[in-house]
Amino acid sequence: SRPLLEIKELHTHFFTDRGEIPAVDGVDLYINKGEVLGVVGESGCGKSVTSLSILKLIPQPPGKIVHGSISFKGQDIVSLNERDMRKIRGNAISMIFQEPMTSLNPLFTIGDQIMETIRLHRGFTKKEAKAHAIEMLIKVGIPRPESIIQEYPHQLSGGMRQRVMIAMAISCNPELLIADEPTTALDVTIQAQILDLIRHLNEEQGTSVMLITHDLGVVAEMCHRVVIMYAGKVVEEGSVYDIFKNPLHPYTQGLIQSVPRMKESRDRLYAIPGNVPVLGTEMKGCRFAPRCPYAMPKCAEALPQLVEQEANHSCRCWLHETAEEDAV
Ligand code: SF4
Ligand code: MG
Repeated sequence: SRPLLEIKELHTHFFTDRGEIPAVDGVDLYINKGEVLGVVGESGCGKSVTSLSILKLIPQPPGKIVHGSISFKGQDIVSLNERDMRKIRGNAISMIFQEPMTSLNPLFTIGDQIMETIRLHRGFTKKEAKAHAIEMLIKVGIPRPESIIQEYPHQLSGGMRQRVMIAMAISCNPELLIADEPTTALDVTIQAQILDLIRHLNEEQGTSVMLITHDLGVVAEMCHRVVIMYAGKVVEEGSVYDIFKNPLHPYTQGLIQSVPRMKESRDRLYAIPGNVPVLGTEMKGCRFAPRCPYAMPKCAEALPQLVEQEANHSCRCWLHETAEEDAV
């Protein structure tokens, strides 16, 4: 059956003083109904820009979706106008961010903010919206919801704010929840609770989740399938089992080898020497070549394609793209 969300050849570029930056440089990915998809990579790999593109939240200018399609339940999102997009955003697709303060309005009470979302999409009366808001706060494990709805964001702890944001995000029963590093700013105990909450939503409500993270431990625990991104491109995609058992791309292999070390540094992914390249439209060859222990002359010359290597497991690397040559 058709995926819930399908992205094809997405290019989201930023037009800056430094030139045109292809932050998302030809991304293909899909999310099935009921699935938790992990999207993994270092900062600057394009994972957040991909998710913001889905919701058309890319600030334009300087950003722009210059090419590609994003189809949600068969409908193309890229061509939707802002009015139609508003019907989807916060309703069928909603998003939670790393820092809730950026998506909560400091001037309004928690209750007003949740109720506004509910009333916008569901046409509830004020009284119904309030009851529903309290129900949502209970669902995300917030104690004393009747008093919390009267408080302002700054009066809550980081963990509580994150719960409020999730309550708001799920208040219209979205089919797809996009969570961008939802626990990075939280301490370990709260982190686990928030992840539990997201897992329950998926298991009990069948909400599909796109979980953006740099933490492979979180992926192992939460996801069904995973997409690994590097420098604006998908370099590997497969089931969590295949990716951990048989990582094909040297970048993925490096990520997995560095997992034990990640406990110490929460933001920096690794351990793989070198830096992510400065993105530009003139780039050629494999983006990972300067850091790759297996780089060959051809790697700097030509960009390998994302090719399926075994059932539902694809990789973008010349080491694995031998089919054509063998055939000669
Ligand atoms: Fe390394 Fe070449 Fe594969 Fe890129 S294409 S990951 S440089 S071996
Ligand atoms: Mg990010």
